[in-house]
Amino acid sequence: MPAVTADTLTLTRLPALDPGTTAWRDVVKLVVAQRFLEGEGFAVRRPFPSTDLALADPFLLLDHMGAVEYAPGEAKGAPWHPHRGFETVTYIIDGAFEHTDSAGGGGLIADGATQWMTAGSGVMHSELPTAELVASGGLFHGLQLWVNLPRADKWAPPRYQDIGAHDAALLSTPDGGALVRLIAGDLAGHAGPGNTYTPITYLHATVSPGARLDLPWPAHFNAMVYVLSGRGVVGASGRPLEEGQLVVLGAGDAVTLTAAATQPQASAQGWEVIVLGGLPLREPVARYGPFVMNTKAEIIEAVEDFQRGTLIRSTPEHVASPTEPGMAHRTSADETLDG
Ligand code: MN
Repeated sequence: MPAVTADTLTLTRLPALDPGTTAWRDVVKLVVAQRFLEGEGFAVRRPFPSTDLALADPFLLLDHMGAVEYAPGEAKGAPWHPHRGFETVTYIIDGAFEHTDSAGGGGLIADGATQWMTAGSGVMHSELPTAELVASGGLFHGLQLWVNLPRADKWAPPRYQDIGAHDAALLSTPDGGALVRLIAGDLAGHAGPGNTYTPITYLHATVSPGARLDLPWPAHFNAMVYVLSGRGVVGASGRPLEEGQLVVLGAGDAVTLTAAATQPQASAQGWEVIVLGGLPLREPVARYGPFVMNTKAEIIEAVEDFQRGTLIRSTPEHVASPTEPGMAHRTSADETLDG
């Protein structure tokens, strides 16, 4: 069960959408997450990239870690490694990850917190379970999302945003049947705390058994739904969707989800889903391991910089959330990304 819960009846409500004028998006593709080992050998489920879904532009990768109940000595992470050209967004639903970076900064990401790292021109970091989690074992459940940077921002100075468990905007549906934790972007005029270069909306919802969640969604964004646990139906035609599955939705201006009335025991409190979308960059993507650039020459440059020890070009900036509201306007619908 997610660490961040709330009495939905006390929360700000999302608007009721008019079924007569709303263009509900429907499922155009269903992807089953594949299992991989990452870092020192921890298991992830990865809906993309894969042969079924190469690119979810502007997103590059989604790793679902756990939920797993670690025995003592079992918890693993990803020790020192580089990144350049995109952003990693680590959302820890339960448990804790400790982050250390090349500037000597760092912090704990725990129990509902998010760390938003803009690798930009280059960063080195390690992402490890806390000593306490390794020693004692315990529940671990989280996500890492990679968001691409537009060409114009790939050389931005590295930046970290610590988004606390209580910084996410909490919203509910008109009948109080769903809890929405808005991590980044705009939703029905509400702003999530994550400060993004590429316009996106990223949220985690718990939909009570039998309840419906309708979300207004920008028509120019893509839209995807990934299931953390439980089951329900999604889209205009009510396509069934369960744990470890992702759907890509087609055109429209709203997303609709309904949780099954009966949920598996492990998800008894409701259907746990991630809904994400963004403005596609439509730029060439050259990727190799931890580097994502626009051309092969830039990838070779990144590898050579890493080997020479010159990957780090400026000291990362650490920003505690909530960040200044001005940057949130980068998610404006009017922004063009062809610069
Ligand atoms: Mn990393």
